[in-house]
Amino acid sequence: MLQLLGASLALIFGVFGWVVVLRRRVREQTDVIRSQLVEASRLQEQAEAASRAKSGFVANISHEIRTPMNGVIGMTSLALQTDLSSEQRELLDCVKLSADVLLAVVDDVLDFSKIEAGKLELAPAPFCLSERLPVILKPLALRADQKNLEFVCDIEPNVPDQIVIDGTRLGQILLNLISNAIKFTSKGEVELNVALDGVKDGKAQIHFSIRDTGIGIPLDRQHFIFDAFSQVDSSTTREFGGTGLGLTICRRLAEMMEGRIWVESELGKGSAFHFVVEASVAVGDSADVGQSTTQASLAGMKFLIVDDHATTLGILANMVGRFGGVPVLAADAASARNEIAAQQVEGAIIDCHMPGEDGFLLANEMRSSHLHLVMLTAPTNYADGARCRELGLASVSKPVFFRRLLEAIQLAMGEHSETGPGVKAASGGEG
Ligand code: ADP
Repeated sequence: MLQLLGASLALIFGVFGWVVVLRRRVREQTDVIRSQLVEASRLQEQAEAASRAKSGFVANISHEIRTPMNGVIGMTSLALQTDLSSEQRELLDCVKLSADVLLAVVDDVLDFSKIEAGKLELAPAPFCLSERLPVILKPLALRADQKNLEFVCDIEPNVPDQIVIDGTRLGQILLNLISNAIKFTSKGEVELNVALDGVKDGKAQIHFSIRDTGIGIPLDRQHFIFDAFSQVDSSTTREFGGTGLGLTICRRLAEMMEGRIWVESELGKGSAFHFVVEASVAVGDSADVGQSTTQASLAGMKFLIVDDHATTLGILANMVGRFGGVPVLAADAASARNEIAAQQVEGAIIDCHMPGEDGFLLANEMRSSHLHLVMLTAPTNYADGARCRELGLASVSKPVFFRRLLEAIQLAMGEHSETGPGVKAASGGEG
């Protein structure tokens, strides 16, 4: 009995001793893990601080480079306005081009490092889409025209016109994506579409898409291109230049605007970049710009639209429908003549530049039939506008925006503008 008791006590003490040792070991291990965790978080903090310092440094350096660069560009532009020999002009043009490219690279690096350092803040303010987009897009229209690309824009009627958003940053995303579309397209068209995905609690989800008919992006590279310094392949830099930062900046900006960005593309066929951003709808916005300005006199009127570009024809047909007119489409001057012979049209919207026949020739014929005429001019061809003014014709520069088309039609019909401030006489230059 005593032996049994002794054995039990020995067992209990043994187990107890073992538990004590085990607890000590667990405590020791816990202490080791805790100190490792403390060390890891200290290292992480150090790394984050170093990264912030690096981004801050890059941001400061970029800023320091930007200031003298602006001086170089400004002075070169001034020198280019003076009397120069053709050789000097060529050399200075080259200086200006290189300086512009360098400034664009510095701007990208500056923005990227600002975003990385958490220093970029949005500045939302009232923004009128129908007034501001034509201004933002004007330089891009010029660039597209220089490459002989058709650039078309379509703001769908239900998109709120008065929104609150950081217009500079929205413009930056658009400039980046449309510049890329133009850069990577040698033939065909670039189209910007603005649509409304929905409205919730006074916030509109505005969906921008930029479609091109360019080189396209292989499927296996599509998810990489939004990463910093990523290009489809190294030949891209050689052939087209660029830093591979533009899309990273666009993605971060879209995310800061509570949105997202993505791409759909087919190699050799073209790409469509989409981004959705959230914007407050300004109080009192009437979504359809045309609604308040639609003239009863335009309702039911037949408008002949003559343009060799199918996408432009489609967009213009929608615009004519929006102010209550009836579109009649013609892809060239011959079909336009047939349509006029076959049916009673009261107005015509004619592209100045069509393959085969000058739009002005057609316009001249139509004038004798007392049609209300609006000419579509090319953004780089200032002579078009001058010719329209000489002939007393209303004109709109491409890409055509609804507000400006309506203004031009009213002008052609001898009516006064009711489209409010910011819309110029349509026969003048656009934005
Ligand atoms: P960058 O144009 O300065 O190189 P981006 O970040 O804007 O940098 O674009 C990254 C890469 O994505 C480009 O180098 C190009 O390979 C590809 N890419 C972007 N847009 C297009 C497009 N519209 N068509 C074809 N490739 C494109």
